[in-house]
Amino acid sequence: MKIVLQNVLWLLVSVAYQYFCLANESTTIGVIFSEEINQSAVVLKSTIHKKNTFDHIVYFRTNVKQVSKYDSFEASKTLCTILEEDDGVAAVISLNSPTIALLESTCAQFEVPFFMTSWKAPTTRQAETVFNFFPKAELFSQALAEVVRSLQWSSFVIVYEHEEGLVRMQDILKLQDISHDSKHNNIRVKQLGPGDDHRSLLKEIKNASETNIILDCETEHIIPILKQAKDQNLLNINNNYFLTSLDAHTLNYTELRTAANITTIRLFNYNTEDFNNILERWNLLNSYDKMISLEGHQIKTETVLFHDALLHLTTSINELLKTEKSITSNPINCFGSTTSRNGYTFASYMKERKPLLTLSGPIEFDNYGNRIDFNIHVVDVIENQILADWYASNSSLVLRRNSNEREFAAVTNLQKIVVNVTSRLGDPYLMKRTPEEGKTLYGNDRYEGYSMDLIQEVANIIGFRFEFHLTKDGQYGKWDESQKKWTGLVADLLEGRAQLAICDLTITHQRREAVDFSTPFMSLGISILYKEEAEEDINMFAFLDPFSMSIWIYTATLYLVISVVLYFISRMTPGDWENPHPCDENPEELENIWGIKNCLWLTLGSIMTQGCDILPKGISSRMAVSMWWFFSLIVTSSYTANLAAFLTKDRMESSIKGAEDLAKQTKIKYGALDGGSTMSFFRDSNVSTYKRMWINMESTRPSVFEKHNNDGVKRVQAQKGNYAFLMESTQIEYEIETKCDLKQVGGSLDSKSFGIAMPMNSGYRTAINKAILKLQENGKLKELKETWWKKKRKEPSCETVEAKDTTNSPELALANVGGVFFVLGIGIAIAVTVAICEFLWNVRSVSVEEHLTYWEALKVEFKFACNVWITKKRIKPVIAESSSSGSNKNDNKSMIHSIFQSAGSLLNLNN
Ligand code: ASP
Repeated sequence: MKIVLQNVLWLLVSVAYQYFCLANESTTIGVIFSEEINQSAVVLKSTIHKKNTFDHIVYFRTNVKQVSKYDSFEASKTLCTILEEDDGVAAVISLNSPTIALLESTCAQFEVPFFMTSWKAPTTRQAETVFNFFPKAELFSQALAEVVRSLQWSSFVIVYEHEEGLVRMQDILKLQDISHDSKHNNIRVKQLGPGDDHRSLLKEIKNASETNIILDCETEHIIPILKQAKDQNLLNINNNYFLTSLDAHTLNYTELRTAANITTIRLFNYNTEDFNNILERWNLLNSYDKMISLEGHQIKTETVLFHDALLHLTTSINELLKTEKSITSNPINCFGSTTSRNGYTFASYMKERKPLLTLSGPIEFDNYGNRIDFNIHVVDVIENQILADWYASNSSLVLRRNSNEREFAAVTNLQKIVVNVTSRLGDPYLMKRTPEEGKTLYGNDRYEGYSMDLIQEVANIIGFRFEFHLTKDGQYGKWDESQKKWTGLVADLLEGRAQLAICDLTITHQRREAVDFSTPFMSLGISILYKEEAEEDINMFAFLDPFSMSIWIYTATLYLVISVVLYFISRMTPGDWENPHPCDENPEELENIWGIKNCLWLTLGSIMTQGCDILPKGISSRMAVSMWWFFSLIVTSSYTANLAAFLTKDRMESSIKGAEDLAKQTKIKYGALDGGSTMSFFRDSNVSTYKRMWINMESTRPSVFEKHNNDGVKRVQAQKGNYAFLMESTQIEYEIETKCDLKQVGGSLDSKSFGIAMPMNSGYRTAINKAILKLQENGKLKELKETWWKKKRKEPSCETVEAKDTTNSPELALANVGGVFFVLGIGIAIAVTVAICEFLWNVRSVSVEEHLTYWEALKVEFKFACNVWITKKRIKPVIAESSSSGSNKNDNKSMIHSIFQSAGSLLNLNN
């Protein structure tokens, strides 16, 4: 009711004023437009009404004509009509008209001020009566470039629809110089093809791993293109768009349901009080006419510029009249002779005057009517918030949000989606979980490991949901020069498949050029994984090792030869022929005890360092024996010394103590993980040792590189000391925790760290950094490492194994000296066999000599041998009667008898 009353009042006042003012001077303003001008029509009516109602200096009329956008002949004809009709026009305003140049030159010819509101390519000169309220092309281009620079995109693609778009982009294209040396830092330019289907172009962009897009197209094409981008997975949280259309804010983006960053620019801010007052006035008039209410976000740039142009024109005419100068608006015949007008004076007056109460901010023109003062607002279309302002007056961009606000916005965005985390399988970072029988695991439950727990902790702090995905090629991420693209986790981030990447992903400068990394969560360095000397080569006959087989054979041969030589020497030397009965001073015979048996005994006793009960007396034999003793002394001491060293050789240090030792030799092969940062370290190193190692690794066949760390570890184990694997220290630590045959050789060759990777300039990076710092400070990172490196191991730790296992103690194990026991056993067994043979042979002799049966002789001799009390033996055995009677008593008697007899003979030694 109130609004209706207001409207009626407004109408009455305006009609009354119009009537009153009819007597005053009136001026006509010509308007040419080429499209439906709903909003501009409202603006035209409202502004003219306001001027006519309140300023009442001049009464303004309008001559509005519509032309076809594509018919320039019609446009120029319409202009002539406007100029000629009635009282002529004071000025012409063109909205979205075609062939501006034609209208411009016609107006210039007749000194008619001409106003434009749309972008115009830069020209060296423009007629003096022309005014363009759209920012000057060069400055606009500069502003666009400044905005793009503030977005901090290292690479982007410009997608444009019309050729003129490229002119607008010229300053943006110059940004390429910033990152001139970087091969990954580039700007691509693509033109939208004819038709509505741009999927192939978007697919191309996606395949090029480009996530930052500048879209310069007609406003009505933006949403369909973004929808197609969504189909190509180009509209997720990591995708950034910059829409150059100044009407992009009028679109509805909610239907896209996207977390992508979409930024645009506006020439005005509709959230100010002044704007709302004017909007209210428009709506008042509009509601009377059409009952449609306009909202700030619906207002087009052209509408605002038209308002400002109209305002500037009408105010200038009024002001000029106040100074007693009038503006001539006599009709003009386009084809007749030129009538003199004061158009230039009027134009220069308008150029000098700075309009107030404009909607599109400060307005100032240069001598050629180009707008050189304006503000551009950088807007986030999804959040509908102004992020920054660019001021043409000082060519500066001022950010509205501080870093905290930007981070907050990014985190809020992250919380809205399910974050895709890309990773790769590798113990203990990410492993497949074994499901319980009959159960199938889905989603994150399929995996477990350090990475999973770490992301879970980070997600708990920041408050987002996540889902783990394995990267297709299983790689960490390297730049593939032939394909000109990244692989592995880095590619997943670049191609928008994931928002975070985590595993044992090393922060390298090359990767840092393509993606962002969080604060490191683990520090490490490259080291060498090597296998301990093979313990399964335990040798029972290790006591033979100190001498080679040939030395054993030579020594044994020498033993026999020396014994034989000694035998002959002692037979020859008179000193060894002795008197067998020393009491007989003139013996008839001399005796030589050095038979071959005694010679063998003496030489054996010497080499065994036991000596002998008999020794030679002859000079030459003593000389020979001395030499043999000398030989024995050297041989046995060398043997003793070597034996100790050989039996403890397992505990001796390996010959490889570090990378230098590996580089110097060629016997032990060494390699690294294929396509990882370890491999790159050697490939790109300038240190001569590492360079040499790289050349060696590269040229070795079969290849020494492994697809997976696990394969490298297995190869080290399988090739027992013939292969070393260059691996990151944290991984080595993990492997040697339970694989006790492996060891880390030397220290770290470099120092680096693992970080969580994310697309370049991710707004949530600071939040992730803070979360990692928090986890570091509260000891959670350490705890996670302890859990996955030690506590959750299925195999026992080497520390526990060693505590139980005595084989690793410094003493010699039985296994090492087992052979000595074996030799002793065999020797004793042979001795017992020989003794039995001797005994049986002796039984045979006794049976023959004593005319007994072999069985009887055996019984007697065996009984005697078993009787440990008797230590003397008769030359002839005593055959008791018992042998025939077989009585036990008699047996015992003869035994006792025999004992006494033996005892008697012992006491009576001389008998
Ligand atoms: N962590 C390494 C990487 O990120 C893999 C390696 O080379 O050991 O590439």
